[in-house]
Amino acid sequence: MNTERKNFIVIDEKFTCKNCGEKNPKHGASCRNHCRKCLYSEHIDETIPGDRKSDCKGLMAPIYSIFDSKKGQVIVQKCLKCGKTSLNKIADDDNLELLTKLLNANPEAADELTRNRRNNA
Ligand SMILES: [Zn+2]
Ligand SMILES: [Zn+2]
Repeated sequence: MNTERKNFIVIDEKFTCKNCGEKNPKHGASCRNHCRKCLYSEHIDETIPGDRKSDCKGLMAPIYSIFDSKKGQVIVQKCLKCGKTSLNKIADDDNLELLTKLLNANPEAADELTRNRRNNA
């Protein structure tokens, strides 16, 4: 039995971005969990991706991007309201220019985050 799958609820739906107003269509092949144009999302998940249990509803801003050995390129987002950070897998129609900028954004902070994740595991 694959227990890892239980920790991830697949939600793929269209939404209008609360940060930039971009109308994001349903992705179709993957989860649409952040804006494809500005890469923001909302703090709606609490403990596991897709659980929609958070009542924070703050905007999650992309702060940098790293390569994760399992997930590939991920965006590190930080909630502007409560400060929670989370990793968000990129989608194939994400804003490439912005993704590239984020990759070069802050490698020290990225190192720190991956270290913290390993310690918590
Ligand atoms: Zn947006
Ligand atoms: Zn929050």
